[in-house]
Amino acid sequence: MRAGFAVMDRLPDGFLDCPASRLIELLPGPTLFDLPGRDPKPLFVSTLLHGNEDSGLTAAQDILRRHASRGLNRSLMLFVGNIAAAAENLRALPGEFDHNRIWPGTPLADDEALVRMARAVYDYVERRRPFAAIDIHNNTGFNPHYSCVTKLEPKFISLAQLFSRIIVHFQRPRGTAAAAFANLCPSITVECGKAGAGSATRHAIELVEACLSIDHFPDHPPASQDVDLLRTYAIVKPPAGSSFSFDGAAADFQFRSDIDRLNFSELARGETFGALGASDARLEILPGDSEDHIPDEYFDYAGGKIRLSRPAIPAMLTLDPRAVRLDCLCYLMHRIDLDGARIPD
Ligand SMILES: [Zn+2]
Repeated sequence: MRAGFAVMDRLPDGFLDCPASRLIELLPGPTLFDLPGRDPKPLFVSTLLHGNEDSGLTAAQDILRRHASRGLNRSLMLFVGNIAAAAENLRALPGEFDHNRIWPGTPLADDEALVRMARAVYDYVERRRPFAAIDIHNNTGFNPHYSCVTKLEPKFISLAQLFSRIIVHFQRPRGTAAAAFANLCPSITVECGKAGAGSATRHAIELVEACLSIDHFPDHPPASQDVDLLRTYAIVKPPAGSSFSFDGAAADFQFRSDIDRLNFSELARGETFGALGASDARLEILPGDSEDHIPDEYFDYAGGKIRLSRPAIPAMLTLDPRAVRLDCLCYLMHRIDLDGARIPD
Protein backbone atom coordinates (compact mmCIF):
# COMPACT_ATOMS: atom_id res chain seq x y z
CA MET A 1 0.00 0.00 0.00
CA ARG A 2 1.36 3.41 -0.98
CA ALA A 3 -0.40 6.58 0.14
CA GLY A 4 -3.43 4.53 1.14
CA PHE A 5 -4.00 2.51 -2.03
CA ALA A 6 -2.60 -0.62 -3.63
CA VAL A 7 -1.39 -1.02 -7.22
CA MET A 8 -1.79 -4.45 -8.85
CA ASP A 9 -0.84 -5.53 -12.35
CA ARG A 10 -2.98 -8.65 -12.24
CA LEU A 11 -6.31 -9.64 -10.76
CA PRO A 12 -6.26 -11.66 -7.54
CA ASP A 13 -7.94 -15.07 -7.71
CA GLY A 14 -11.64 -14.71 -7.14
CA PHE A 15 -11.82 -11.03 -8.07
CA LEU A 16 -14.00 -11.50 -11.15
CA ASP A 17 -16.75 -13.19 -9.15
CA CYS A 18 -16.43 -11.19 -5.97
CA PRO A 19 -19.41 -9.03 -5.01
CA ALA A 20 -18.67 -5.46 -3.91
CA SER A 21 -19.59 -6.36 -0.33
CA ARG A 22 -16.78 -8.95 -0.12
CA LEU A 23 -13.93 -7.13 -1.88
CA ILE A 24 -12.67 -6.18 1.54
CA GLU A 25 -11.71 -9.85 2.05
CA LEU A 26 -9.73 -9.88 -1.20
CA LEU A 27 -8.05 -6.48 -1.46
CA PRO A 28 -5.88 -4.60 1.04
CA GLY A 29 -7.86 -1.38 0.52
CA PRO A 30 -8.60 0.95 -2.38
CA THR A 31 -6.84 -0.63 -5.36
CA LEU A 32 -5.65 0.54 -8.77
CA PHE A 33 -5.42 -2.32 -11.26
CA ASP A 34 -2.95 -1.41 -14.00
CA LEU A 35 -3.77 -3.91 -16.75
CA PRO A 36 -1.95 -3.99 -20.09
CA GLY A 37 -3.65 -3.91 -23.49
CA ARG A 38 -2.60 -3.69 -27.13
CA ASP A 39 -2.94 0.11 -27.18
CA PRO A 40 -0.77 1.28 -24.27
CA LYS A 41 -2.66 4.55 -23.75
CA PRO A 42 -4.91 3.50 -20.88
CA LEU A 43 -8.57 4.01 -20.20
CA PHE A 44 -9.03 4.99 -16.55
CA VAL A 45 -12.22 3.68 -14.95
CA SER A 46 -13.14 4.44 -11.35
CA THR A 47 -15.74 2.39 -9.51
CA LEU A 48 -17.16 2.20 -6.01
CA LEU A 49 -16.17 5.75 -5.09
CA HIS A 50 -19.57 5.38 -3.48
CA GLY A 51 -19.63 2.02 -1.73
CA ASN A 52 -23.25 1.15 -2.49
CA GLU A 53 -23.01 1.86 -6.23
CA ASP A 54 -21.70 -1.32 -7.77
CA SER A 55 -22.59 -1.17 -11.48
CA GLY A 56 -19.08 -0.03 -12.39
CA LEU A 57 -17.56 -2.99 -10.59
CA THR A 58 -19.91 -5.55 -12.13
CA ALA A 59 -19.38 -4.02 -15.58
CA ALA A 60 -15.58 -4.16 -15.19
CA GLN A 61 -15.74 -7.75 -13.96
CA ASP A 62 -17.85 -8.76 -16.96
CA ILE A 63 -15.48 -7.08 -19.42
CA LEU A 64 -12.37 -8.56 -17.84
CA ARG A 65 -13.98 -12.00 -17.86
CA ARG A 66 -14.81 -11.69 -21.55
CA HIS A 67 -11.31 -10.52 -22.44
CA ALA A 68 -9.51 -12.99 -20.18
CA SER A 69 -8.29 -15.18 -23.04
CA ARG A 70 -7.74 -12.73 -25.89
CA GLY A 71 -6.51 -9.76 -23.85
CA LEU A 72 -7.60 -6.12 -23.78
CA ASN A 73 -7.53 -3.96 -26.87
CA ARG A 74 -6.48 -0.99 -24.76
CA SER A 75 -4.73 -0.82 -21.42
CA LEU A 76 -7.16 -0.43 -18.55
CA MET A 77 -6.53 1.27 -15.24
CA LEU A 78 -9.34 0.21 -12.97
CA PHE A 79 -9.67 1.96 -9.62
CA VAL A 80 -11.79 0.20 -7.02
CA GLY A 81 -12.54 2.76 -4.33
CA ASN A 82 -14.42 2.56 -1.07
CA ILE A 83 -14.52 -1.18 -0.41
CA ALA A 84 -14.94 -0.61 3.34
CA ALA A 85 -18.20 1.25 2.71
CA ALA A 86 -19.16 -1.36 0.09
CA ALA A 87 -18.89 -4.04 2.79
CA GLU A 88 -21.58 -2.14 4.70
CA ASN A 89 -23.58 -1.27 1.55
CA LEU A 90 -23.08 2.42 2.35
CA ARG A 91 -22.15 5.37 0.16
CA ALA A 92 -19.39 6.21 2.68
CA LEU A 93 -18.67 5.06 6.22
CA PRO A 94 -20.21 7.24 8.94
CA GLY A 95 -18.08 10.35 9.51
CA GLU A 96 -15.89 9.62 6.50
CA PHE A 97 -15.37 11.99 3.55
CA ASP A 98 -17.29 11.22 0.39
CA HIS A 99 -14.75 9.51 -1.91
CA ASN A 100 -15.98 11.55 -4.84
CA ARG A 101 -15.12 14.87 -3.16
CA ILE A 102 -11.45 14.19 -2.41
CA TRP A 103 -9.78 14.52 -5.83
CA PRO A 104 -7.42 17.34 -6.90
CA GLY A 105 -9.48 20.53 -6.84
CA THR A 106 -11.19 19.50 -3.61
CA PRO A 107 -11.78 22.16 -0.96
CA LEU A 108 -10.59 19.66 1.69
CA ALA A 109 -7.14 20.10 3.26
CA ASP A 110 -4.16 18.61 1.40
CA ASP A 111 -3.01 16.64 4.43
CA GLU A 112 -6.23 14.67 4.84
CA ALA A 113 -5.36 11.01 4.29
CA LEU A 114 -8.02 10.48 1.61
CA VAL A 115 -6.99 13.65 -0.23
CA ARG A 116 -3.40 12.42 -0.26
CA MET A 117 -4.56 9.04 -1.56
CA ALA A 118 -6.62 10.61 -4.36
CA ARG A 119 -3.69 12.85 -5.33
CA ALA A 120 -1.37 9.83 -5.48
CA VAL A 121 -3.82 7.90 -7.68
CA TYR A 122 -4.14 10.97 -9.92
CA ASP A 123 -0.35 11.35 -10.18
CA TYR A 124 0.02 7.67 -11.07
CA VAL A 125 -2.61 7.90 -13.80
CA GLU A 126 -1.15 11.16 -15.10
CA ARG A 127 2.22 9.50 -15.68
CA ARG A 128 0.48 6.94 -17.90
CA ARG A 129 -1.09 9.62 -20.16
CA PRO A 130 -4.67 8.33 -20.10
CA PHE A 131 -6.87 8.17 -23.17
CA ALA A 132 -10.08 8.91 -21.27
CA ALA A 133 -11.49 8.70 -17.75
CA ILE A 134 -14.86 7.30 -16.75
CA ASP A 135 -16.25 7.39 -13.21
CA ILE A 136 -19.20 5.01 -12.91
CA HIS A 137 -22.02 5.68 -10.44
CA ASN A 138 -25.55 4.69 -9.61
CA ASN A 139 -28.17 6.86 -8.03
CA THR A 140 -30.93 6.10 -5.59
CA GLY A 141 -33.86 7.89 -7.19
CA PHE A 142 -35.70 7.36 -10.43
CA ASN A 143 -33.42 8.97 -13.07
CA PRO A 144 -32.68 8.30 -16.73
CA HIS A 145 -29.11 7.24 -17.47
CA TYR A 146 -26.97 10.32 -18.11
CA SER A 147 -23.39 11.51 -18.24
CA CYS A 148 -21.79 14.51 -16.57
CA VAL A 149 -18.89 16.62 -17.82
CA THR A 150 -16.98 19.59 -16.44
CA LYS A 151 -15.86 20.78 -19.89
CA LEU A 152 -17.88 21.22 -23.08
CA GLU A 153 -14.98 20.46 -25.42
CA PRO A 154 -15.92 18.22 -28.37
CA LYS A 155 -13.89 15.26 -27.12
CA PHE A 156 -15.69 15.37 -23.77
CA ILE A 157 -19.09 15.56 -25.47
CA SER A 158 -18.13 12.70 -27.78
CA LEU A 159 -17.14 10.55 -24.82
CA ALA A 160 -20.37 11.45 -22.99
CA GLN A 161 -22.43 10.64 -26.10
CA LEU A 162 -21.10 7.10 -26.06
CA PHE A 163 -23.27 6.70 -22.98
CA SER A 164 -26.28 9.00 -23.33
CA ARG A 165 -27.79 11.90 -25.20
CA ILE A 166 -28.47 13.58 -21.85
CA ILE A 167 -25.30 15.37 -20.75
CA VAL A 168 -25.07 17.47 -17.61
CA HIS A 169 -22.40 20.16 -17.36
CA PHE A 170 -21.37 20.81 -13.76
CA GLN A 171 -18.72 22.61 -11.69
CA ARG A 172 -19.98 21.80 -8.21
CA PRO A 173 -19.53 19.87 -6.07
CA ARG A 174 -15.75 20.33 -6.06
CA GLY A 175 -13.29 17.48 -5.72
CA THR A 176 -14.96 14.96 -8.03
CA ALA A 177 -12.90 12.44 -9.96
CA ALA A 178 -14.44 13.59 -13.25
CA ALA A 179 -13.34 17.19 -12.66
CA ALA A 180 -9.81 16.16 -11.65
CA PHE A 181 -9.17 13.85 -14.61
CA ALA A 182 -10.60 16.45 -16.99
CA ASN A 183 -7.18 18.10 -16.63
CA LEU A 184 -5.59 15.03 -18.24
CA CYS A 185 -8.04 13.67 -20.82
CA PRO A 186 -11.72 13.56 -21.81
CA SER A 187 -13.45 12.71 -18.55
CA ILE A 188 -17.03 11.91 -17.56
CA THR A 189 -19.13 10.69 -14.71
CA VAL A 190 -21.92 8.34 -15.70
CA GLU A 191 -25.04 7.80 -13.65
CA CYS A 192 -26.43 4.37 -14.49
CA GLY A 193 -29.69 4.51 -12.54
CA LYS A 194 -30.29 2.27 -9.57
CA ALA A 195 -27.62 -0.19 -8.42
CA GLY A 196 -28.41 -3.85 -8.93
CA ALA A 197 -30.40 -3.33 -12.12
CA GLY A 198 -29.08 -5.46 -14.99
CA SER A 199 -29.70 -2.60 -17.40
CA ALA A 200 -27.32 -0.38 -15.41
CA THR A 201 -24.47 -2.87 -15.70
CA ARG A 202 -25.19 -3.59 -19.38
CA HIS A 203 -25.10 0.10 -20.24
CA ALA A 204 -21.82 0.61 -18.36
CA ILE A 205 -20.34 -2.40 -20.18
CA GLU A 206 -21.24 -0.90 -23.57
CA LEU A 207 -19.57 2.38 -22.66
CA VAL A 208 -16.35 0.82 -21.38
CA GLU A 209 -16.17 -1.61 -24.33
CA ALA A 210 -16.57 1.32 -26.73
CA CYS A 211 -13.76 3.23 -25.04
CA LEU A 212 -11.50 0.18 -25.14
CA SER A 213 -12.04 -0.23 -28.87
CA ILE A 214 -12.17 3.27 -30.37
CA ASP A 215 -9.02 4.89 -31.60
CA HIS A 216 -9.73 8.56 -30.96
CA PHE A 217 -12.50 11.05 -30.24
CA PRO A 218 -13.63 13.48 -32.94
CA ASP A 219 -12.33 17.05 -32.67
CA HIS A 220 -15.47 18.64 -34.04
CA PRO A 221 -18.59 19.35 -31.98
CA PRO A 222 -21.68 17.16 -32.37
CA ALA A 223 -24.83 18.36 -34.05
CA SER A 224 -26.83 20.26 -31.46
CA GLN A 225 -29.93 18.13 -32.06
CA ASP A 226 -27.97 15.03 -31.05
CA VAL A 227 -27.50 16.06 -27.42
CA ASP A 228 -29.63 17.27 -24.53
CA LEU A 229 -27.23 19.55 -22.73
CA LEU A 230 -28.07 20.74 -19.25
CA ARG A 231 -26.16 22.66 -16.62
CA THR A 232 -26.48 22.39 -12.86
CA TYR A 233 -27.28 25.89 -11.61
CA ALA A 234 -28.20 25.14 -8.01
CA ILE A 235 -27.86 22.44 -5.38
CA VAL A 236 -30.80 22.15 -2.98
CA LYS A 237 -30.35 20.92 0.58
CA PRO A 238 -32.52 20.79 3.67
CA PRO A 239 -30.51 22.87 6.18
CA ALA A 240 -28.43 20.96 8.76
CA GLY A 241 -30.57 20.04 11.74
CA SER A 242 -33.86 20.22 9.87
CA SER A 243 -36.15 17.21 9.50
CA PHE A 244 -37.82 15.91 6.37
CA SER A 245 -40.10 13.09 5.29
CA PHE A 246 -41.42 11.55 2.09
CA ASP A 247 -44.47 9.81 3.55
CA GLY A 248 -46.38 12.72 5.04
CA ALA A 249 -44.91 12.19 8.54
CA ALA A 250 -44.53 15.37 10.60
CA ALA A 251 -41.27 17.12 9.64
CA ASP A 252 -39.95 20.57 8.71
CA PHE A 253 -40.14 19.56 5.04
CA GLN A 254 -42.79 17.05 3.98
CA PHE A 255 -41.76 16.16 0.45
CA ARG A 256 -44.17 14.45 -1.90
CA SER A 257 -43.85 10.67 -2.00
CA ASP A 258 -43.28 10.51 -5.76
CA ILE A 259 -40.78 13.37 -5.86
CA ASP A 260 -38.12 11.33 -7.71
CA ARG A 261 -40.52 10.99 -10.64
CA LEU A 262 -39.82 14.68 -11.35
CA ASN A 263 -36.19 14.02 -12.31
CA PHE A 264 -35.26 15.41 -15.73
CA SER A 265 -38.75 16.83 -16.28
CA GLU A 266 -39.05 20.42 -17.45
CA LEU A 267 -40.98 21.75 -14.48
CA ALA A 268 -43.00 24.94 -14.65
CA ARG A 269 -43.12 27.64 -12.04
CA GLY A 270 -45.59 26.54 -9.36
CA GLU A 271 -44.72 22.82 -9.45
CA THR A 272 -45.04 21.53 -5.90
CA PHE A 273 -42.27 19.62 -4.10
CA GLY A 274 -44.32 19.17 -0.92
CA ALA A 275 -45.37 21.15 2.13
CA LEU A 276 -43.76 22.80 5.12
CA GLY A 277 -44.35 21.44 8.62
CA ALA A 278 -44.85 23.67 11.62
CA SER A 279 -41.48 25.44 11.37
CA ASP A 280 -40.56 28.23 8.99
CA ALA A 281 -37.52 26.36 7.66
CA ARG A 282 -36.34 27.12 4.13
CA LEU A 283 -34.40 24.94 1.72
CA GLU A 284 -30.78 25.93 1.21
CA ILE A 285 -29.90 26.88 -2.36
CA LEU A 286 -26.18 26.54 -3.08
CA PRO A 287 -24.41 27.61 -6.26
CA GLY A 288 -24.07 24.88 -8.83
CA ASP A 289 -21.92 26.47 -11.49
CA SER A 290 -19.21 29.01 -10.80
CA GLU A 291 -17.45 30.14 -7.64
CA ASP A 292 -19.07 33.55 -7.46
CA HIS A 293 -22.49 32.86 -8.86
CA ILE A 294 -25.20 33.50 -6.31
CA PRO A 295 -28.19 31.45 -7.39
CA ASP A 296 -31.61 32.87 -7.79
CA GLU A 297 -34.24 31.87 -5.29
CA TYR A 298 -35.96 28.80 -6.68
CA PHE A 299 -38.80 28.18 -4.24
CA ASP A 300 -41.65 30.03 -2.70
CA TYR A 301 -43.43 28.90 0.40
CA ALA A 302 -46.76 30.72 0.21
CA GLY A 303 -49.55 28.89 2.02
CA GLY A 304 -47.09 26.41 3.54
CA LYS A 305 -46.46 24.74 0.17
CA ILE A 306 -42.97 24.21 -1.26
CA ARG A 307 -43.32 25.34 -4.87
CA LEU A 308 -40.86 26.19 -7.62
CA SER A 309 -40.79 29.94 -8.16
CA ARG A 310 -39.22 29.59 -11.62
CA PRO A 311 -38.99 26.84 -14.25
CA ALA A 312 -36.22 24.28 -13.63
CA ILE A 313 -35.21 20.71 -14.43
CA PRO A 314 -34.33 18.66 -11.32
CA ALA A 315 -31.95 15.70 -11.11
CA MET A 316 -30.96 13.29 -8.35
CA LEU A 317 -34.23 13.70 -6.45
CA THR A 318 -34.40 10.62 -4.27
CA LEU A 319 -36.61 9.12 -1.57
CA ASP A 320 -33.53 7.86 0.30
CA PRO A 321 -33.07 10.07 3.38
CA ARG A 322 -29.43 9.00 3.79
CA ALA A 323 -28.60 10.18 0.28
CA VAL A 324 -30.28 13.51 1.02
CA ARG A 325 -28.33 13.94 4.25
CA LEU A 326 -25.00 12.97 2.70
CA ASP A 327 -25.39 14.79 -0.60
CA CYS A 328 -28.44 16.90 -1.29
CA LEU A 329 -32.15 16.84 -2.07
CA CYS A 330 -31.54 17.56 -5.74
CA TYR A 331 -29.73 19.53 -8.40
CA LEU A 332 -31.62 22.13 -10.41
CA MET A 333 -30.65 22.47 -14.04
CA HIS A 334 -31.38 24.56 -17.14
CA ARG A 335 -30.74 23.82 -20.78
CA ILE A 336 -27.55 25.18 -22.36
CA ASP A 337 -26.21 25.22 -25.89
CA LEU A 338 -22.90 23.74 -27.09
CA ASP A 339 -21.16 27.02 -26.29
CA GLY A 340 -22.37 26.81 -22.71
CA ALA A 341 -24.86 29.65 -22.96
CA ARG A 342 -28.12 29.21 -21.07
CA ILE A 343 -31.13 28.69 -23.30
CA PRO A 344 -34.03 30.83 -21.98
CA ASP A 345 -36.69 28.76 -20.18
ZN1 LIG B 1 -22.31 8.10 -6.70
